[in-house]
Amino acid sequence: MSEYEFTCPDCGQQIEVNPPVREATLSHGCPVCGASVSQEHFAKQ
Ligand SMILES: [Zn+2]
Repeated sequence: MSEYEFTCPDCGQQIEVNPPVREATLSHGCPVCGASVSQEHFAKQ
């Protein structure tokens, strides 16, 4: 179940994520391009 939509500010990739993946992405960056991201790049579904 996805609860957030992530939009990468760098590569523009949109990915639906659940809370654990959201946390991992905040820590490690975009899974596609590795850009650092912040909470503003996640929209609650
Ligand atoms: Zn990216």
